[in-house]
Amino acid sequence: MAKLSLKHIYKVYPNGVKAVNDFNMDIEDKEFIVFVGPSGCGKSTTLRMIAGLEDITAGELSIGDLVVNDIEPKDRDIAMVFQNYALYPHMTVYENIAFGLRLRHIPKDEKHPNGKFTKEEINARVLEAAEILGITEYLGRKPKEMSGGQRQRVSLGRAIVREPKVMLLDEPLSNLDAKLRTQMRAEISKLHAKLNTTFIYVTHDQVEAMTMGTRIVVMKNGFIQQIDTPKNLYNYPENKFVAGFIGTPQMNFFEGTMKREGDAVHIRFAYSEAEVTVPYSYFYKARPDYLDGEKQVIFGLRAENISISPAAVKNSPAVIRFKVSHKEELGNETLVYGDINMEGDGYVESSTRIIIKCGEDVDLMPGDIAEAALDLDRLHIFDKETEESILPRIPQYNYLQAEVKGGKLHFLGEEAELPPAIFCEDGEYQLLLPSDAICSGGSIRAKLVSSEKIGDQTLYSLEVGGTRLFSVALTEGDAENIRIDMKKIGLIRNGEEVVRPMPLTATFGGVMKKNKVVEEVEKKGKTVQKKVIRFFLDIEGVDFPAPDRISAKLISALSARKAFEKQLRYECSAYGLTVTEKGIPAKVLRIADYGTEKFAVCAVGDKEVYVKTDAELEGEIFLTPDFETIGVIQADMDIRIV
Ligand code: ADP
Repeated sequence: MAKLSLKHIYKVYPNGVKAVNDFNMDIEDKEFIVFVGPSGCGKSTTLRMIAGLEDITAGELSIGDLVVNDIEPKDRDIAMVFQNYALYPHMTVYENIAFGLRLRHIPKDEKHPNGKFTKEEINARVLEAAEILGITEYLGRKPKEMSGGQRQRVSLGRAIVREPKVMLLDEPLSNLDAKLRTQMRAEISKLHAKLNTTFIYVTHDQVEAMTMGTRIVVMKNGFIQQIDTPKNLYNYPENKFVAGFIGTPQMNFFEGTMKREGDAVHIRFAYSEAEVTVPYSYFYKARPDYLDGEKQVIFGLRAENISISPAAVKNSPAVIRFKVSHKEELGNETLVYGDINMEGDGYVESSTRIIIKCGEDVDLMPGDIAEAALDLDRLHIFDKETEESILPRIPQYNYLQAEVKGGKLHFLGEEAELPPAIFCEDGEYQLLLPSDAICSGGSIRAKLVSSEKIGDQTLYSLEVGGTRLFSVALTEGDAENIRIDMKKIGLIRNGEEVVRPMPLTATFGGVMKKNKVVEEVEKKGKTVQKKVIRFFLDIEGVDFPAPDRISAKLISALSARKAFEKQLRYECSAYGLTVTEKGIPAKVLRIADYGTEKFAVCAVGDKEVYVKTDAELEGEIFLTPDFETIGVIQADMDIRIV
């Protein structure tokens, strides 16, 4: 039993293929995690790094509380089950299961004088595993006398007897036929419940992922797309890839545009005559420029969220016409295929094809023109270029109209003092108000509409002056009086960002160096001087002694020789830079006073850097980064080392 932590894990193969990018995840004890994605997306590589079969290029992997990057596979307390069961053909099932235990070294004690499990212990474990897997009666057989499913059970047995902290399974069912796969799926889930061990399971099959995982990691091209429960992946996909990958039949995708007119939004579907006008309340979370009638979006709706029932069509504000092309009758339900473009044929995937899941009796015939009601509560909308959801569960921003007048910001019938750091001319602006900039304890009156726990955040829906606002930064039980964290806001006028959010992070450049230094050491009671080699981080041309933690990670990620050649990028928070006697030279340009906090705005080379300060700094100063919170990135491959 163990929890795992994967922090900024990367894999670059010697041939330069970057197979895994910045993989971050905490896995709780006893979870059943599934890595899923199309072939080549990096799921096996990630699993193999956990197993220790593949080196970790950069990042930190912990099992339990132990960092295991440099620990041999056999000492990681994991067991792995592969797609090809790799059983020894000349051994019986019993022998195959017992084999690994016989070889295993354990601490020597009275009971185990030669550091091996006793015969009785091995026997007990093999019998118990066979019992769990229902293969007791086959223990005397050879693998060739067994079916594929039974052989896979034997290889599971081999893993179970090791009593691992973590079970890793790499497409264990893909060699089995469909029926057996379904059965084994259920058995592996049952096994997980029985063993109470953390499972990590790799598959390219989304049905396997959805039916087995407590949480699923969807991957594409080496990048995590989303980590979530099966239900959340299905209901709240964060991008079009996840939306299309999860669920059968695939989600319907229609291209189109949206135009807001007061309290209504007019949706036009591209390449067809279809259009609907629906209440604006469905689009609270969308950025206003998506509702300008121009910006291209992709609407996503699952087949079961479109209905042809007369009652639904009568009551829905969103009804579109389509031409039926064909039906798939699946017994308990029927899939109706069609096209919202009357010229389209409904057979090929396109941005006008429509698939509708219906009950068993559908009297539509190919060629019929019919009406379908769209369930707007289930509507997904994606940006056509980035394919990210534009109705995210947690919106990053609130978009409001505001006016600046005499140093005050007026919005939603409220007013807030602008701090000295924000100076802008009087006039009308668009206010970009991040959801983490709406905090508790202020003089703006808000009405709490709802709160929802999403992951480790709580999303508060508020009403201020009749408009919906979203916040993730409120204190529980204190949502009625709010204030704005002014350093995070943006003010836009005629498309130009007149006031930008304060940059919370500064980026510096440099390399790691190996310098000879003279140090005083104690030798036979005397203090003598000795030349030693020490590692330094050159940051903007200034050498800082490299903390061991950081130099070790750089050397392990970049290999000792190259560690000193590679350009590095350092990320320092405005709260992680202190003014010191020596350090990175900086010139204070001004003090940015945000009311509750002050920052010194400094020039470092040609960069502007913000430094949290309570002192009235001025002139030339020197800065030292906090090495506990600094970020270090290898620049050319874009690999986060720390
Ligand atoms: P998946 O398990 O999702 O199918 P893999 O983790 O096997 O994907 O592979 C991810 C990427 O890394 C692919 O582009 C693959 O070609 C590449 N790759 C895998 N193994 C190696 C290797 N040993 N050497 C070089 N490239 C590899």
